[in-house]
Amino acid sequence: MDKKIFAIGVIGIAALAAFPMLFPNPYYIHLAETILIYAILLFGLDIVVGYTGQVSLGHAGLFGIGSYITGVLVFKLGLPWYLAILASIGGAALFGAILALPALRVTGPYLAMVTLAFGTIIQILINEMTFLTEGPMGIKITKPVLFGAKLSEVGYFYLVAALMVISLIVVHRILKSNLGRAFEALRDSPIASDCMGVSVYRYKVYAFVISAGFAGLAGSLYAYSEEYISPNTYNFELTILFLLAVIMGGRKTRSGALIGALIVVMLPSLLADIELFRKIAVGAAVLAVLGSAFLLAKKRTDVRAVLVPLVATVGMAWFSYRLESMTDWRLTIFGLMTLFVVYYLQDGIVGFLRSLMGRGAVHDSALVTSVATDPFAGAKSGAAGATLLKVDQVLMQFGGLKALNRVDLNVAERSVHGLIGPNGSGKSTMMNVLTGIYQPTAGKVEFDGVVITGRTPSQIALGGVARTFQNVQLFGEMTATENVLVGLHHTFRSNVLDVMLQTPRYRREERAARERAAGILEFVGLAALANEEARNLPYGKQRLLEIGRALGLNPRLLLLDEPAAGLTAPDIKDLMAIIRKIRDHGITIILIEHHMDVVMAISDTVTVLDFGQKIAEGTPAAVQSDPKVIEAYLGGSDDTALAIPAH
Ligand code: ADP
Ligand code: MG
Repeated sequence: MDKKIFAIGVIGIAALAAFPMLFPNPYYIHLAETILIYAILLFGLDIVVGYTGQVSLGHAGLFGIGSYITGVLVFKLGLPWYLAILASIGGAALFGAILALPALRVTGPYLAMVTLAFGTIIQILINEMTFLTEGPMGIKITKPVLFGAKLSEVGYFYLVAALMVISLIVVHRILKSNLGRAFEALRDSPIASDCMGVSVYRYKVYAFVISAGFAGLAGSLYAYSEEYISPNTYNFELTILFLLAVIMGGRKTRSGALIGALIVVMLPSLLADIELFRKIAVGAAVLAVLGSAFLLAKKRTDVRAVLVPLVATVGMAWFSYRLESMTDWRLTIFGLMTLFVVYYLQDGIVGFLRSLMGRGAVHDSALVTSVATDPFAGAKSGAAGATLLKVDQVLMQFGGLKALNRVDLNVAERSVHGLIGPNGSGKSTMMNVLTGIYQPTAGKVEFDGVVITGRTPSQIALGGVARTFQNVQLFGEMTATENVLVGLHHTFRSNVLDVMLQTPRYRREERAARERAAGILEFVGLAALANEEARNLPYGKQRLLEIGRALGLNPRLLLLDEPAAGLTAPDIKDLMAIIRKIRDHGITIILIEHHMDVVMAISDTVTVLDFGQKIAEGTPAAVQSDPKVIEAYLGGSDDTALAIPAH
C-alpha cells in the first residue's frame, strides 16, 4: 500500500478514536455519528452519481428502507443488531435491484424519474402501513446490545466509526477494481464500454444495487443512532441534500464524501439560525471581494470570470438582511449553492483543493509492474483464407435513407480487408451493424459460422470482434493503462466478494491484467504515457490507445474506422507498422481509411461502397483502375479524391 495513504489512514483512525475523549459532549458525539452515517451513504451514492454518471432521486427512500427494516425487525421481533443491519443492507439492495432493472433498460432520465417516484411512494407507504411501521407515530428502538450490555452513545459512536472505515475500504476496493473501471468507463463512453464487452446496462444495475446496499446500512445505523424513526425524515429534501453533498464534496473521491457529509449535517443547523447565516453570508462576500480584487490585480483572471461569484455572494449577504427567518428559504439556498458549485467548482471542494495544490485526480499506479507480457497471449485464429465474416444482403434504413442497401461482404481469415468509399457512403454504418450497435433492417451477419445479428454489442465483443471509432471514444478520465484494462475486463472471473476481500484469485487476475496491459501499451508505443489520463494524450496517441484497448479484448476480428484520420505523417508510418504486426499475429482486420496510400499498401482485398451500395471489390490494383470507383470518387466531394500512389 501507498505510504501516504497508510499515514492518512492511521491519522484518520486515531482522530476517530480520540474524538469522544476530546469532545465528550453527547451532542457533538451524536453529530459526528450522523456525519459518519451520512458518509457511508454518500460513498455508495458517489458510485452511482460520480462514477456511472446517473442521477438517483431515491436515496432518501433507500435510506428509509434501511431504517425501517431495522426498526420493524427490532421493534416487532427483537432481532439482534447484526442481523438487523444485514437485513437492512440486503433489503435496500433488493429494492435497488427492483428499481434499477427496469429503469436502466433504457437510457435517458428514467432512473431519475423512477427513483423520484419511488422516494415519494416509500414515504407514503411508511405513513400508511401502520400495522408494520406504526405510521406517523414512528418507532422507538434502543441502542444495540453488545456482550449483554446496551451500548452507550460513545460505544455506539465507535461501532459506527468502525463500520464507516470498513465501508470506506470496501468501496475503495470496489472502485479500484475491474468493477470500478467498468463503472467509470460506461460514463465516459457507453458505446465504447459495450464494444469492449462491458455491458453498460449490467454494470449500471450493479452500481445501483451496491449503492442501495450502502444506503441500507446507513439507514439501519441511523435508526439506532436516533433511537426513533418516523416517516418525515425520509423526504425529498434529504435526497437533494445527499446529492448536494456528493457534488459539493467532490465526486469520485472518498474524502469528498466525508466533506460533503460534514457540510450537509452542519448546513441545516447553520441555515436554521438567521444570525449565523448572515455572518457566513457576509464573510463569504468579503472573501469573494478581496479574492477577486487580488486575482484581478495580479492579472490572474478577468472581470467576467469573477462577476458571477461576486454578484452571488454579495447578493446573498444583502438578501440575508432582508429575511426575517430561514424556514422558507432553505431549499432555495441549497439550490443556489448547488448551481454555484456545479458552475464554479466542477470537481467539488476536494477537486478545487487538489487543483490549488497543482495535483489532478489520483490514479492508482501502485500495482503497475514493469513486467510486460506478450500482448497477443491467447490470440486465437483459424486457417488463413477461410471466411471469418459473412455479411449477407444487409439493409440498413434510417427513415427513407438506405445507408446500406443490400450489401454482401466476405472477409477472409487473417487478411486485411479495406473498406473505402466517399463520405456518407455507409462505411461507419457497416461497422455499427457488425458490432451490434445498429440492428440491420434486413439481412444477416455471420461471424465464424454463427449468426450474430440480434446480439448485443457486448456479446459480439466478447465473441471476438473489437473495434475503434471514427471519432475517438476513449475513457477520458481514465489513464492509458486503465483504458486497456477495460478492454481486458473479460479476463476477470472475480466477483464482488473477491474484490471486497481482495482474495488471491482477484489479486492474481489484477496482476495478470496489468502485466498484459503493460505489454499492449509497449506494443502500441505508449509505455511512457501509461499513467497519463487519456484525454490529455495527443490526438495521434489517442488513436493508438484505442487500438491497444481493442487488442485487450483478444479479438479475432479488429475493425478500424479511419485510424489514420488526423494523424501526422510519422504517426501514420507507426500506425501502418502496428497494423501489419497485428495482422501477422493472425488477427483479421477490416480497415476503413481515407488515406488511399495506406489502404492500398496494406489491404489484401478492398471493397468500395457508394451511396450504401457495393460498387467494386477486388485486389487494390484492380479496384484502383475500376472506372466505377474513379467515377464515384470524382463525382463525390474533392477532399476524398482517390489518390493513386505512384508505383
Ligand atoms: P461513412 O462512414 O461512409 O462516411 P456513414 O456510415 O457514417 O458514412 O453514413 C452513411 C449515411 O447514413 C449518411 O448519410 C448518414 O447521414 C446516415 N446515417 C448514419 N447513421 C445514422 C443514424 N443513426 N441516423 C440517421 N442517419 C444515419
Ligand atoms: Mg465514417
